[in-house]
Amino acid sequence: MSARRAASTLLLLALVVVPPATAAAAANEPIAIAVDLREAPRNLVHAKLTIPASPGPLTLVYPKWIPGEHGPSGPIRDLAGVRFSAGGSDLAWQRDPLDMYAFHLEVPAGAAALEAQVDYLAPVVPANYTAGRSTTAALAVLSWNTVALYPQGSSPEQVSFAPSLTLPEGWRYGTALEGATQTGDTVRFTPVSLVRLIDSPVVASANFTRVELPGSDRPHAIDITADSPGALTLPPGFAAAYAKLVVEAGALFGARHYRHYDWLLTLSDNVEHFGLEHHESSDNRLGERTLLEEPWRKALASLLAHEYVHSWNGKYRRPAGLVRDDYQQPFDTWLLWVYEGLTQYLRELLPARAGLWSDEYGRERLALLAANLEYQGGRQWRPLSDTASAAQVLFGVPSFWRSWRRGADFYDESVLIWMEVDAKLRAGSRGAKSLDDFCRAFYGGAENGPEVKPYSFDDVVAALGAVGAGDWKALILEHLRSKSEHAPLGGLEAAGWKLVFDDKPNAALADRQALDASRDFSYSLGFDVEKDGTIRDVRIGSPADQAGVAPGAKIVAVDSLAWSVDRVTDAVTSSAQRQGPLELLVQQGEIFRTYRLEYHGGTRYPHLARTAGPDLLSAMQTPRMKSPAAAPARRGGAHR
Ligand SMILES: [Zn+2]
Repeated sequence: MSARRAASTLLLLALVVVPPATAAAAANEPIAIAVDLREAPRNLVHAKLTIPASPGPLTLVYPKWIPGEHGPSGPIRDLAGVRFSAGGSDLAWQRDPLDMYAFHLEVPAGAAALEAQVDYLAPVVPANYTAGRSTTAALAVLSWNTVALYPQGSSPEQVSFAPSLTLPEGWRYGTALEGATQTGDTVRFTPVSLVRLIDSPVVASANFTRVELPGSDRPHAIDITADSPGALTLPPGFAAAYAKLVVEAGALFGARHYRHYDWLLTLSDNVEHFGLEHHESSDNRLGERTLLEEPWRKALASLLAHEYVHSWNGKYRRPAGLVRDDYQQPFDTWLLWVYEGLTQYLRELLPARAGLWSDEYGRERLALLAANLEYQGGRQWRPLSDTASAAQVLFGVPSFWRSWRRGADFYDESVLIWMEVDAKLRAGSRGAKSLDDFCRAFYGGAENGPEVKPYSFDDVVAALGAVGAGDWKALILEHLRSKSEHAPLGGLEAAGWKLVFDDKPNAALADRQALDASRDFSYSLGFDVEKDGTIRDVRIGSPADQAGVAPGAKIVAVDSLAWSVDRVTDAVTSSAQRQGPLELLVQQGEIFRTYRLEYHGGTRYPHLARTAGPDLLSAMQTPRMKSPAAAPARRGGAHR
């Protein structure tokens, strides 16, 4: 229709017949990427790329499928101020009409390079993972993929980037990138492949501390930024506690596939809270008071253990469907029940082994996890397998009808499956073998620094078979394909424990409720609520479901008394003695309605109780090492 469209079509045709000579040329000489974080406090990140190129058509692409996020989450929507030039002259560009992540342009005769300028509009509203809030007035997390372009058709393993970073005055930083040299507020790093660059985010702030962990044969550190200086106050024994996690992970896997490891930790109530794994670091984000309050500290142990395990399970060994030639190809996420599921299982064990929480607290966590899955109505239509295949559309789903939709359940439900495999390996060998042996065989191997070894389902089954006899394939597939209304609790029972409910508070649930001020009545009335009475989800088949209550509606009165969470709690506590239904007056949009819930079962909190069989769970939680190796503490050095 327009001249621009016609030009774009010609460019596309030209690309088909011209071999990717420009891409090959770009692979030899590094692309310089200079990121300016000086306006990050106002949520604006500037970048300038100098891209070696030959005259002729060139297509640059913006990373779309982001490793570890398991979906097409590259935040192209927030890319602005895009300008290309060569020799000081602006170049026209066209976005591909079908691929929003591709920019077509023509490198003029005589040019050996072009410059690309981009701004990343760092979000101020919630979104998923690194595409979400990553900057505040006091700190920034830089994920290089948010500002990177690379020639279409080039290999991110081959194309080299020379990164540099300009910081606001007085800010310090942490990253796994190496070879830093600083001039004023600008830091230059050793050139790396695009893969390594995207794998190496940076945290920066004036409020920064680097905690080096003692007692290992290579550097391990927790690099912390926060919205306030007070948030950096370390609890007693902090470094020693996480040093034990390093020791236990080393004892479990038997090899490390990183040269040094940095947990990048961002503490703010105004960034997304999540973790993202990398080979030699991880991007971990929690609330500002994480180091100061015990429930947050437990959440921190869980998060840091999970992301750390990913250095082995996810980065070093990775499902073949998650290994792609570039960042533009879709992932096959089906094996996430290994990648995320086994990581989640080890996340439940390693903090107990390292002493970051007690065995009893670990059991409370497992009870809560199991109860949530047992009350997941969506398991009747959606097998666990589908939650893994559909991961890209399940991350960040809202809470309404959460249990009917199901979410990324391949995390938590796989914990129960891996525990069953572990218990069977232990029982079948009279304690001589366990899933630890599988981990050592599958994730150990030679220490060559960061590398990727893809695997298939059959590889996993074969490695399990080498540890202990069993029809592992049939066992796992049965659980993955099941539409049973019950969660797979056989592993807990094989480990000597069963899920029970009583009126004593669950310690892990109490911590979670302290963190988000919610209250969970899922196992009694059948819903959980926000502090203000807004119902998050209604469990299928529960008294609330049968009464017709809608998720998203807001409770305004309980038995004709004004809403308070304590009034609902009291009503549940006394429900066994109650005559007649509990009455909830609920506001849904403009409409008020009263719902009558027939419930007389009293308070129900989940716990684990011993069965008659041997206690294998305690064996799973037992440290492999009695105490950290007594090597000298490493000296604090430059921030790598
Ligand atoms: Zn994970």
